[in-house]
Amino acid sequence: MKILVINAGSSSLKYQFFDMENETVLAKGNCDRIGIEGSAIKHKQLIKGVEYEEKTPMKDHSDAMKAVIAALTSPEHGCITSMDEISAIGHRVVHGASSFTESVVATDEIIETIKSCRDFAPLHTDASLMGIKGCTEAMPGKPQVFVFDTAFHQTMPAEAYMYGVSYDMYEEYGIRRYGMHGTSHRYVSGEMIKLLDKPEEDTKIVTCHLGNGSSISAVKGGKVMDTSMGFTPLAGVIMGTRSGDFDPAMVTYIMEKKGFTPAKMSDYMNKKCGFLGLCGSSDCRDVESAAKNGDKKAQLVLDMLAYQVTKYIGSYSAIMGGLDAIVFTAGIGENTPSIRKAIADRLAPFGVKLDEDVNAKARVQSNIIKLSTDDSSVKVYLIPTNEELVIARDTARLAKDLVK
Ligand code: ADP
Repeated sequence: MKILVINAGSSSLKYQFFDMENETVLAKGNCDRIGIEGSAIKHKQLIKGVEYEEKTPMKDHSDAMKAVIAALTSPEHGCITSMDEISAIGHRVVHGASSFTESVVATDEIIETIKSCRDFAPLHTDASLMGIKGCTEAMPGKPQVFVFDTAFHQTMPAEAYMYGVSYDMYEEYGIRRYGMHGTSHRYVSGEMIKLLDKPEEDTKIVTCHLGNGSSISAVKGGKVMDTSMGFTPLAGVIMGTRSGDFDPAMVTYIMEKKGFTPAKMSDYMNKKCGFLGLCGSSDCRDVESAAKNGDKKAQLVLDMLAYQVTKYIGSYSAIMGGLDAIVFTAGIGENTPSIRKAIADRLAPFGVKLDEDVNAKARVQSNIIKLSTDDSSVKVYLIPTNEELVIARDTARLAKDLVK
């Protein structure tokens, strides 16, 4: 089976093309500036290692899909001779609210249900719907599967997902914790479980997905018990441009002081806070180098991140009744030894010990790296996330009886 994985943004469309026989990526790429002047496709075929970039008009996601198919079937840069070789398509869908606890095969009814979740993440949902429409138009009749960022978190108990606002908010508007990055937490916790020498039901893992957006999850017995993102991806630890948690009374206070409308406040919390608002850059690499050069605000950002992640690890160990392993993943988790060390150092009183040499050298090379010493009370691992592979696997599993 050959599976095309699509991650659609409002003006972009990322894709990876998998051969599921050995789970290898045959090709991948990105369509940019869809619907805007200057749209282009960047395509890489990984068998021969050839790549190209081409400016081509794409008025919508349907045009983008046609460009993807042309790239995949191109004699020079492609890896298949016709689109009949694409067995099925898997889509990343950001928000499935409480409607989706697992991946599903596309039907008209399912698409309507996705539309009903739109309010929770309008921009992302519209982008996914455009990607789905683009595929349906470019490859009519091809089986499609939807994989939701929220689904893995649906096992949280009510005590974890309910907020202390009145119950009618939950009943009328679905206000509750949903969590994000579910596909990533599912992948890395699944890989970690395989490395633990105990039955899955006894495992207790904290997964730290630290990237531009960050979330931490408590995964007990392979199921999420709690996660740091909430009703939206704004909650939890400080992020590139998002604030993370703060006292909700600050929202109205800041709005009154600054004269912000609700839209302006939302923009402020999502795009002007976090690392960027505190020290002037949203990129952890910039923050790290500024801190090394003596920038106190940048150092504060690094300290705050390590402090907040440590707090989650501590509280999640308490709710799970113990901790077998901590997993670091995503851009920062995979590439920033100093953050991992700062977190592990804070956990040293609980017996967490990093192999400092291994940690200092460990950056992502697509392989799993054990960072803790053999006598550490808790295993600490770097596990590169692979959300696309999870989507491809789910798609292959769910579409296998539908493939013509
Ligand atoms: P997103 O949430 O957008 O998927 P990523 O997971 O790619 O983001 O994480 C982006 C963050 O990871 C940035 O703060 C960046 O500084 C950091 N990062 C990404 N790649 C590297 C790298 N190779 N070396 C150091 N830091 C990196």
